[in-house]
Amino acid sequence: MSLACTLNGPLNLSVEQLALQEPGPGQVRLRLGAGGICGSDLHYYQHGRAGIFAIRAPFVPGHEASGVVDAVGEGVTKVQTGQKVAVNPAHPCGVCPACRAGRSNLCEKMVFLGSAAIFPHIPGFFREHFVMHEAQLTAIDEDVSLGEIACAEPLSVGLHAVRRAGEVLGATVLVTGAGTIGCMSVIAARLAGAGRVIACDPSERARAMALTVGADEALPDATAWKGRVDVALEAAGHPAALASCLAAVRRGGRVVQVGTLPPEIPFPANDIMSRELDYVGAFRADIEFDWAVQAIRSRRADVRPLISAQLPISQSKAAFDLALDRGRSTKVQLVAASLLVAAPAFAQTKLKWAHVYEPGEPFHTASVWAAEEIKKRSAGRYQIDVYPASQLGKENDINQGLSLGTVDIIISGSSFAAKAFPRIGVTYYPYTFRNVDHLLAYTKSDIYKELTAGYEQKSGNQIIATTYYGTRHTTSNKPIAKCADLKGLKMRVPDVPAYLAMPRACGANTSPIAFAEVYLALQNGTVEAQENPLPTIEAKKFYEVQKHIVLTGHIVDHLNTVVAGGLWKKLSDADKKMFSEVALEAAAKASREVAARESELAAVFRSKGISVTEVNTGEFRDTVLKNVPFEQYGYQKADWDRIQAIK
Ligand SMILES: [Zn+2]
Ligand SMILES: [Zn+2]
Repeated sequence: MSLACTLNGPLNLSVEQLALQEPGPGQVRLRLGAGGICGSDLHYYQHGRAGIFAIRAPFVPGHEASGVVDAVGEGVTKVQTGQKVAVNPAHPCGVCPACRAGRSNLCEKMVFLGSAAIFPHIPGFFREHFVMHEAQLTAIDEDVSLGEIACAEPLSVGLHAVRRAGEVLGATVLVTGAGTIGCMSVIAARLAGAGRVIACDPSERARAMALTVGADEALPDATAWKGRVDVALEAAGHPAALASCLAAVRRGGRVVQVGTLPPEIPFPANDIMSRELDYVGAFRADIEFDWAVQAIRSRRADVRPLISAQLPISQSKAAFDLALDRGRSTKVQLVAASLLVAAPAFAQTKLKWAHVYEPGEPFHTASVWAAEEIKKRSAGRYQIDVYPASQLGKENDINQGLSLGTVDIIISGSSFAAKAFPRIGVTYYPYTFRNVDHLLAYTKSDIYKELTAGYEQKSGNQIIATTYYGTRHTTSNKPIAKCADLKGLKMRVPDVPAYLAMPRACGANTSPIAFAEVYLALQNGTVEAQENPLPTIEAKKFYEVQKHIVLTGHIVDHLNTVVAGGLWKKLSDADKKMFSEVALEAAAKASREVAARESELAAVFRSKGISVTEVNTGEFRDTVLKNVPFEQYGYQKADWDRIQAIK
């Protein structure tokens, strides 16, 4: 026996047991892989009709499906038992004028599964098993999910809408409505080479989804684009959306109606005339179904973010109700109970973001901002909790945690990344960066890409952004004007080889006192000097126990935002892009804050009676270069030279 979801009339849905059918010659019995609930299915469910098609007898809806071959009839050659298949619901006659003109979606004798267009109605795919002719099937051996394959039909609708739009390469395209068909239209416009894609939807969740699948911009309404878009795809099926499309297209532009509108609506026909607009319809799809299958199997179209939930056929009513709630779902799919996987695609993924900085520091506030932004942009698919102040371990622990799975995202210095891939630590060699702008230019350079890629290869983890941490300067109880003035000075320096390079090259007598004890050590004279960024000198009140701040600027310190390899591999391309974009924005925010604070601090210290002096850093740099070989740290001089060359 096999379960089927049956619509008996408006809001009257039942789940019934059907006998298993045997496939005849050329036929294949499929187990449902996934069956997407579409806007038209929802119209049937709510109103007993979709557009002009009304339910006249109980029928099984569903026209977006993938399946797994369960049994094959005599003479079947295209597919084998156990294979995943995409299922084309359209059976055009092949001989009518429309079919012969290559517009089979307009076939006069079309048999379309799960549609009430003809009577008796042809049952659709919301059944655990169904029998199809092998001609309707495309076997998929690639590692894409049955849920994705079931999106071929709605993607084909988006592709057909874009084809009806004419030339789209380089064009500015507006899409109204960012539900499934709107998002598929966004994806299709991107595949067709649109120059700019703007999605409009009053729902914030829908807008976030449109951005995730590739829209450049997502707005609540299109007024800002009045008269400026080349093509508008109306996928909302709403009179106001159509009006905004007609207003947004430039003179001579084209509007494609792909959503289903109410029967009678006001229409600015004179506008069509005087501005020579084209208003065309797009109905289902023709050869675009094959294009959609191709785009999905290759993941050139990544539809995974659109799949909000998968429920078994036994829970059809809950699935339809969830699909009706646009605030919570985009595409809801029904699946055969036997194929329901343990971890459904819609489950919220909880992630841990860890660092060692204090809650008041920009590194934390930017991390929290990024976590919220990722949640928003993923429409709640990712919930990220940020753990500051070494709550999940010291810097070494959280770096190891990336591989152990105890943390998912961290911010951490390149000296830790250098443990896996020494070359990346060259940025800690003294005087690698002239200033913060040089560091930020480096993060956009080829050498940055090369070094982070090297780290990724060695560690398996992914660096997605780099934040300016501050420039390290020297404080002392005696004046320092040149490198040689450090000679014999008792100076606290962390036990990080690159940090030791400048003080030792200048002859300081370094001592690795724990960070928490530096103030006391300076106060009681255990050491006479130390080095740190200005905000740290302020936060730890070192200025109270030091007379001089010497702007040696020997290391332009920075932190990487690192994503655990295990998480990174699981992210879709669209999510990778989104995580990276958010992390870059967060890094830019924190970098700006740190730089702004630093620029104020010299004056703050002077007002406290501390001398703040500049030195000839060139002389310090030359001494370091003469005395400290790059190779001793596993760095390469050539990398340093390439960084120097960045303007
Ligand atoms: Zn559909
Ligand atoms: Zn035909």
